[in-house]
Amino acid sequence: MRRYTREASPDFLTTRWEQWGERYKNNRIRSYGFVFKWPTFQGKKINTLLEPALSNQTDGHCSFCDTYPDRGKEYSIDHFKPKSNPEYYNIVCQWENLYICCHNCQRSKVEQFNENILRPDSEEYSFEDYYIYNYSTHEIDIRPDISDSKKIKALATREIFGFNHGENPKAREISFDRYRGKISLGETIEINDFPYRYAIEML
Ligand SMILES: [Zn+2]
Repeated sequence: MRRYTREASPDFLTTRWEQWGERYKNNRIRSYGFVFKWPTFQGKKINTLLEPALSNQTDGHCSFCDTYPDRGKEYSIDHFKPKSNPEYYNIVCQWENLYICCHNCQRSKVEQFNENILRPDSEEYSFEDYYIYNYSTHEIDIRPDISDSKKIKALATREIFGFNHGENPKAREISFDRYRGKISLGETIEINDFPYRYAIEML
């Protein structure tokens, strides 16, 4: 997970997220099976406006695992505090609760949430303050020299998004080899063209 800076909420959202959240909350209370649908603004579902705005902040990378590019159009918007939890019904459209997210991370996180998960757009967060990239295994290790409270956060985040699960380490290895290959050929490197930018930055 690589840090990024969140820009200001789009105007159409700033003035409407509370009423949209209230509407969703009331619908869910009336009917538990009510399925969330993105509201529309000027005839467009707002996710079609939000996806480019969110993606722009991460240069098109997944907010959590940093994979890139979105080949299968499978990026979607993650509700950081899940919309299935009654406590968070009213923030379902809050800008700060929305992150562009790859299919893998969505599938790993599903409806999980706890207060220990780190946010990539938090001012206190940086990859190197919590994690070490392991260039042998391509796993993401927890920094051994950090406080227990930081360790809890680093672990919770790694688990919920499944950073070391399944094919993720292999995917990072392939990307890293590609990066090194380009370096050895003396090619010009544009870091945003590579997934898992934290691996390159920690070299
Ligand atoms: Zn991801």
